[in-house]
Amino acid sequence: MAMQFYTGGCQCGAVRFRLHGKPRDVSICHCRMCQKAFGNYFAPFVACHPADVEWTRGAPKQFASSNFVTRGFCGDCGTPLTYEAPDGLSLAAGAFDDPATLPPTLQYGTEGKLPFTDHLSRLPGHHTDFDIESAPFLADIVSNQHPDEEMPFWRGSLSQPGDE
Ligand SMILES: [Zn+2]
Ligand SMILES: [Zn+2]
Repeated sequence: MAMQFYTGGCQCGAVRFRLHGKPRDVSICHCRMCQKAFGNYFAPFVACHPADVEWTRGAPKQFASSNFVTRGFCGDCGTPLTYEAPDGLSLAAGAFDDPATLPPTLQYGTEGKLPFTDHLSRLPGHHTDFDIESAPFLADIVSNQHPDEEMPFWRGSLSQPGDE
């Protein structure tokens, strides 16, 4: 049986990773520091054993967000990718190619929780195609993001022999 692994990376494809084996846990963190680091209402994390994480293309840049924590991100496109602290390494759950396979099972940092996050699922919802007439460019959109799968070559990577 093949060893199980999960793949992911930043939106431009300059940084790609594999997580070998099972995560320690999958969570969201509501703390204010994670809100700022992700530019989001909360941050989704896959906690890993550091030895299980392989950087298969590029590597994250680091910002020391405190005396104990560094946060990794793609230096080219800015996608948040890691949280590294004395108690472990987490990867940004939304950066995985198939986040649906890694659903969160707990919440951290609830003292910083934005009250409306409990009600997001009750907001009115629209599919992207719902009102295409008000945003006709959506019909012709061409993504520059890396696909949700491993690619042998990618235009965002600088050191690939197949670049043209
Ligand atoms: Zn990138
Ligand atoms: Zn946090």
